[in-house]
Amino acid sequence: MAFEGLADRLQDTIKKITGKGKVSEQDVKEMTREVRLALLEADVNFKVVKDLIKRIKERAVGQEVMESLTPGQQVIKVVKEELTELMGGVQSKIAVADRSPTVIMMVGLQGAGKTTTTGKLANHLRKKHNRSPLLVACDVYRPAAIKQLETLGEQLSMPVFSMGTEANPVDIAQKAMEQAKEEHNDYVIIDTAGRLHVDSDLMEELEQIKATVKPDEIFLVVDAMTGQDAVNVAESFNEQLDISGVVLTKLDGDTRGGAALSIKAVTDKPIKFAGMGEKLDQLEPFHPERMASRILG
Ligand code: GDP
Repeated sequence: MAFEGLADRLQDTIKKITGKGKVSEQDVKEMTREVRLALLEADVNFKVVKDLIKRIKERAVGQEVMESLTPGQQVIKVVKEELTELMGGVQSKIAVADRSPTVIMMVGLQGAGKTTTTGKLANHLRKKHNRSPLLVACDVYRPAAIKQLETLGEQLSMPVFSMGTEANPVDIAQKAMEQAKEEHNDYVIIDTAGRLHVDSDLMEELEQIKATVKPDEIFLVVDAMTGQDAVNVAESFNEQLDISGVVLTKLDGDTRGGAALSIKAVTDKPIKFAGMGEKLDQLEPFHPERMASRILG
């Protein structure tokens, strides 16, 4: 289970302070020290931790908390609100273009879960929003990627646009847009190529696709299990492409949680969805408040 270590530690810390009828500055100091250590151990970016602890401290020793009847519980409320805010505050919605189709570009490193998430997102859009997406295979470098997307399309009974591995990804994207308009698909989801590392050729290609299809959303797919690497990857992709949101995959694994807790603060882009397994229905809209509740128990 994701966040297990972090949740255990924070819940232990919280227990110590919840029942207190009086909370001293020293109590707050001890509590924030333990929260700080727990977050660092969960691989949360150190600057993110520093800012968060500063805010929690300021609020927790403030009048509204110290003078309340249940100061212990008020302190926990502050921690929960700040964790929620850290992960983006309110849940972020998916864009709908004024004129159909709405275009979503999926980007990310190889193995992050891009192709799988393309299928999951299409499934989500049909099931929850009654949409009919066209899936587009622009990853021409990994031959298996096209087949993988076609198989997902078959499983979902959804159209997949591909031109094989010889065509140029920018042309593929362009032609796919024409087909979507003819066939009245209201969403176009473009699965692009990934690499093992961020590289300039790849970024250039993605910029060209972006310029051609003018996407309404660019979703960066990152693997939550990679912790701080996921945050660094998000920073680079955001600098180059100005992404609109993040899909965090493999949150069903035993990730320590650092990526989920740092990405919004570092990139200022929301986490829109969480991948909770390999199956097509295992994608969930990301709810910062629910996630904070899960962590704090
Ligand atoms: P791509 O190279 O980015 O297109 O990655 P793939 O879509 O091929 O996914 C790589 C692997 O991660 C596959 O084995 C997927 O089944 C797996 N995967 C993707 N998302 C999730 C997730 O949310 N949870 C788990 N457990 N596995 C996932």
